[in-house]
Amino acid sequence: MPIPLTVLVVGAGVAGLAAAGAMDRHGLSVDIVERRTQHPAGAGLFLPGNAVRALTELGAGSALSTNGIPIHIQRIQDDQGRTLAEIDIDRLWQGVGQPVGITYDRLRATLVENLRVPVRTGVTVRALTESESGVDVEFSDGSSGRYDVVVGADGVHSELRRVVNPRAEARYAGQVCWRFVTCNRANIDDWTVWLGRGATFLTVPVGKDRLYCYADLSTSAAATATPAESPLAERFSNFDSRVRDLLAGPDAAAAHFSPIEEVTDPTWRTRRIILIGDAAHASSPNMAQGVAMAAEDALVLAESLSRTGELEHLLERYRLRRLARTRWVRARTQRRDSTRSMAPIVRNAVLRLAAPRIYERDYARLRALP
Ligand SMILES: Cc1cc2nc3c(=O)[nH]c(=O)nc-3n(C[C@H](O)[C@H](O)[C@H](O)COP(=O)(O)OP(=O)(O)OC[C@H]3O[C@@H](n4cnc5c(N)ncnc54)[C@H](O)[C@@H]3O)c2cc1C
Repeated sequence: MPIPLTVLVVGAGVAGLAAAGAMDRHGLSVDIVERRTQHPAGAGLFLPGNAVRALTELGAGSALSTNGIPIHIQRIQDDQGRTLAEIDIDRLWQGVGQPVGITYDRLRATLVENLRVPVRTGVTVRALTESESGVDVEFSDGSSGRYDVVVGADGVHSELRRVVNPRAEARYAGQVCWRFVTCNRANIDDWTVWLGRGATFLTVPVGKDRLYCYADLSTSAAATATPAESPLAERFSNFDSRVRDLLAGPDAAAAHFSPIEEVTDPTWRTRRIILIGDAAHASSPNMAQGVAMAAEDALVLAESLSRTGELEHLLERYRLRRLARTRWVRARTQRRDSTRSMAPIVRNAVLRLAAPRIYERDYARLRALP
């Protein structure tokens, strides 16, 4: 029997946990390290059908049905809450997966519970030397190891990406956002968005009586848009009263603020280091494809590495397969983001007329297996 490849996964977010689980199930020998000892109480996630399909293949399907809230409709409204379109996403994702809303913590906990490999928390890579025969790694806890492959699943500010291509920086995507989870006082039962001028407020039910709220603003200067300068509620004070009510509570005051960044460099690998998830291809979240792309990366990488063949060819096979799909997502995402600069009256008319067709077009390709 051939000796299984030894793999180090750096980062235990969705991408790293999914990849470690998938590779372990394919019989590879996996270690996984995570810099943090604790993850901050995260926000919520909307998972479209292809995310649910990939996570189900990774063994998380029943946990998604138990812990997630099924989402049937994506309701698009203007800033006063007047409906512009309702997208029937049961139909859009029929035969692929039932979309759900879920908290980030629940999803991550499910992936950790499913993993047979222990996550070494509070540990990162201090030094790494790649040679013809392997990658020698020194860890921050003083231990060391030699691996056939190192997987960079260390997020949008990836240190592994700097090793692969020092020039491949994440770049600001033109928006800043706030995220929080709060009590669902407004009884919102589906994905519901309010669109203003360069401003979006989105709600997604993510648990019994729990509502994920996401607010963003387009601004050319991320650094000057900090919440301290002007509270979130003030910025949405001309929105529908349901938005204002949600922004009036203490959960909104403590919302997590961040600029939105994207990664576009396609290098992704050296001979033995490979990037996955946000480290490889972070995008602005308007298509909610982050988890889907990370989970699909994990499945494709595990399948590629379980084949026989020269390692570099296996990694290149993974890169080419994933590049086409993630480029599609980025192109559609950027196109959607560009409509933010349209006058609301024009944008609203387009959405009234064509939203179901736009959704069909943007997601059609993602219905196919990765
Ligand atoms: C505002 C916003 C909203 C979003 N909404 C959605 C949504 O609704 N639906 C959706 O599908 N996606 C959404 N996403 C995207 C989604 O969260 C990510 O794409 C997805 O979680 C995959 O992330 P990842 O595992 O690649 O990276 P991360 O989640 O960033 O995980 C990286 C991990 O690596 C660790 N790490 C970093 N550096 C090191 C190091 N040097 N050594 C060891 N460990 C390290 C980090 O601590 C972290 O645990 C959103 C993203 C943003 C910014």
